[in-house]
Order: sequence, then structure tokens, then C-alpha cells
Amino acid sequence: MSNNDFREVPDDKITDVSGENKNEDDSDYEDICYMCRRPEHVAGKMIHIPGGISICYDCMQKTFDTMGSYAPGSFFPGGFSQLDPDDSHSTNNSNFGNLPVFNLNDIASFLQTTPGVPENQKLKKKKEKKAEGKNGDKQEEPVIDIKNIPPPHKIKAKLDEYIVGQDKAKKIISVAVYNHYKRVIESENLLDSDDDDVELEKSNILMLGPTGSGKTYMVKTLARLLDVPLAITDATSLTEAGYIGDDIESVVSKLLAAADNDVEKAEKGIIFIDEIDKLAKKNSATNRDINGESVQQGMLKLLEGAEVEVPVGASSKNAMVPMTIVDTSNILFICGGAFPRLTDVIKERLKKSSSIGFVSDLGDEYDNDENILDKVTSEDLRKFGFIPEFIGRLPVICTLQPLSKEMLVRILTEPKNAIIKQYQKLLSLDEVKLNFETEALDYIAEEAQKRKLGARALRSIIEEFMNDIMYEIPKDPNIGEVTITKDYIEGKGSPKITMRTSEVVPKLAANE
Ligand code: ADP
Repeated sequence: MSNNDFREVPDDKITDVSGENKNEDDSDYEDICYMCRRPEHVAGKMIHIPGGISICYDCMQKTFDTMGSYAPGSFFPGGFSQLDPDDSHSTNNSNFGNLPVFNLNDIASFLQTTPGVPENQKLKKKKEKKAEGKNGDKQEEPVIDIKNIPPPHKIKAKLDEYIVGQDKAKKIISVAVYNHYKRVIESENLLDSDDDDVELEKSNILMLGPTGSGKTYMVKTLARLLDVPLAITDATSLTEAGYIGDDIESVVSKLLAAADNDVEKAEKGIIFIDEIDKLAKKNSATNRDINGESVQQGMLKLLEGAEVEVPVGASSKNAMVPMTIVDTSNILFICGGAFPRLTDVIKERLKKSSSIGFVSDLGDEYDNDENILDKVTSEDLRKFGFIPEFIGRLPVICTLQPLSKEMLVRILTEPKNAIIKQYQKLLSLDEVKLNFETEALDYIAEEAQKRKLGARALRSIIEEFMNDIMYEIPKDPNIGEVTITKDYIEGKGSPKITMRTSEVVPKLAANE
């Protein structure tokens, strides 16, 4: 093979290191590396060599390394051809002094002699996905821009689209988030100017509320609307550094991972620590409290703002993992928990004070008060087992109410991605209309209340009976409308089926 052969190769086939010089018609197809068989979207840009062969950078490098370790001519059939140093047409820069220079044609012919390699080296590209979030929100522009944070009522209005009820909590959170990001912007501006008279304090949040009342959901919704990274951790897995379990700083490395290792992005993110009530001091005189009070102690500096060294791309530090510094001063910490025993502490205090005061309330009235958590004070939290420094670093306290039957019904139907809306959409793809009778919705809400899991029970109840519907309905293309009745959910009857032309006796056996 001569150098002339090399020059005769059409322009678009000559080494196209940039990968941009591709045929227009080929734009729907991507190349596959001749050697490692990985397509372009996995292996990265390809180098095109004569013979319509593409090789990824990695394999090309490996080939050069291998070839470099052999004397010219000893490895490849036909040997290497040394290119003419004056050959300006050659895409293979030959001004390498005494280093061996390889002819791409040699590599091509070497590869072509490999048996079993198919002729067609192209793969049809996947259609690019539209950049849309889970709920159809465009991801490019955050719904709420933290650089230009809207007033709290607008933040709350956005939360209202997803979260039913919990008005007080939503208000408190909206104000806290507004203040937090204003403070972040302020602190960035302060870096440029020397005007630092008043320092705004951090407004980390403590969220109290029964299980399934929407604590995690609210934080997740907030992070999505703000388009900031979010890390969710369970406080029960945290232990004092040096003991088995995740050390406290692992929450920051989780956030860094959620921010795709972008430190700047992570430093404006949100860390949600769930089950925070499990960190209450354990009253044990003998054992060291490695996952209670000492974790509270360990978290103090993170909550307040500190520079922590965290591993990149791993949850624990070791010699092989690169480290980076993350400043937590602008990270919003939200701690949440159900605090079941806290109600007793609050009741006890309220009863005591009412028995002393002139306006003597009857102590029993607190026993049936569902919103007793609303009356929490930092003194109650201290009695519950939190150290004062820890409580002090979570200055915003918001409580979520237990979900009433009415709220559960609204959760089923109202939010943008309500469960029933999801089923309706699924069936509408088969052009079937799905309705729920009001009594059926009430019944589902009552059942969910009995399970005491909050809104989390709704999905499992619905899935129990919707599975049959989703199985049976697509069988008959004549079905145009299905109405779920209370009887059907109770297992006493059938759903109402309307055919596309006329009403017929329902065929579906209930809960078969
Ligand atoms: P927890 O308070 O235990 O963290 P979650 O936030 O995980 O509860 O709630 C469980 C699920 O219940 C959520 O994924 C959400 O779909 C639903 N949910 C709970 N509360 C509400 C609410 N107020 N509005 C809408 N959906 C809710």
C-alpha cells in the first residue's frame, strides 16, 4: 500500500479528528468504533480512517501504544509505511523527529483483516429526548429562579399546584426559602463589596408532621421548582465519625453527587435529613450515644456553615478517591420527622401551665387535639432530647397537619400529578374515559385513614383494585367509559361500563 493510495481517499473519509466532517445524509447515524464496538454516544468522537473505518480515541491511543512497542514492520501485515515528511496532504502529522510515524492505511488494512467484523459500521441515532421534567415542566428554565427569587406568595402559589392543604407550612417554607436565597445572593454580592454591616443569619428549617403528611414531598417539589440539587438522607443511618454507618459529612457528598459533582451548584442546594427525631438524646448512662447526641454535635458546624472536605463520586473517604472542599454556608438544611413522643411533652407542658394559670383550661382538651404539634416550643424540643445548640441552628419550625378525609380526597384528584389523573391519562391513551364516583373517593380516603400511613396509603389502595381494570379494559375495544363505584372497591359489585355506542351490563367481575 503506498502513500498515493492514502491521498486518493475521498475528503470525507480522511482522518476527521474533529468528527465534524461527516456526510449530511449520515447525520441520523452514528459511528461505531471498529475495535471496541462502542457507538459514538458512548465512546465519544471518532477518528475516521480510510476504508470507512471509525475508531474511538481510546482505541486509537491503545493502537498507537501497541504499535509503538513493536519495531516497524514486525507486527502489522505489510509493515508500517513511513510517511514522507514533506507530505502536506497527509493528515498524519509526520514531524515527530525520530518517533515512529504510522500510516493510517496500515491501521485500516490491519483492522480489515480481523475476521468477523461486519461491513456496516453505523448505528441509527436515538431520537433526542425533549428536555422535560417528570411532570411536564420544562427543565431548561427553573420555575422559580433563585437568582431572581420571586416573593413568598408566588413561591406558595407554585407549591399549591402540587401540595394539598398544609397552608401554614407552605407559607412558612415559602418565606424561609425566599429569605434563604436572598441571603445567598446578598452573600455573593458581599464578596464584591466590603459593605458587611448586617450579616443575615441562615434560616434552616425543622419540619414536624405525621408520617405521610407530605414532608418529603414538599421538599422534593421545592427543589424541583427551584432547580437546585437535593440530597435526602435518613438520620438513623448517621453515626459519629469512626463508627459503623455513614459519617455526618456523607450528606454533603450525596448533595455533591446530586449536583453532578458541580461544587458551585451543590453549595446552593438543599439537604433534607429525614427522621431527625431519632437523633434525640438516648437516656443511657452506660453506652456512648454514637447516633444520637453526638450526631447532633457533629452536625452543628454543617448546619451553621463550614468548609468540609468530601470525597468526589464516593460516599466514603479513602486513598483512591479525590477530595474536594464544599462550603455549607449557603446550603439550606431541612430536617424533618414525625416526632411521635413529642406530643406527650407538649401536652404535659400545656396541662401544667393551664392548671397554674387563672384561666384554667381543662387538661383533657389537649388529649384529642390533632394539631398539638403546632404548639411546639424550643423548650419542648430540648426536653424531647435535642441539645440547645442544635435547636438554635434550625430557627424556622413548621408543622404539617395530619391529613383529614377531605384532604385525602383532594390529594387523589387535585394536584397536577394526582394519582387519579395519572390513571385517567393511561386509559385515555386507549381512548377510555375513567370516572370515580364521589362515594368511591370518600371510601378510599376513609380506608387510607384507617391505615395511618397518611397519603402514602392512597396509592396502595387504588392499585389493589385498579390492576383488574387496567387488565380487563384494553381487552374490549368497544368500551368507552368506566366509572369506579364504591361497591366495586368494596368487592360487592362491578364498575359501571359504558360502551362506545350504548350502555351494556358490566362484564367485569369485581375483584376477581
Ligand atoms: P412524609 O411526611 O412521611 O415525608 P411523604 O412526603 O413521603 O410523607 O408523602 C408520601 C406521598 O403522599 C407523597 O409522595 C405524595 O404523593 C403524597 N402526599 C402527602 N401529602 C401530600 C399533600 N399534602 N399533597 C399532595 N400529595 C401529598
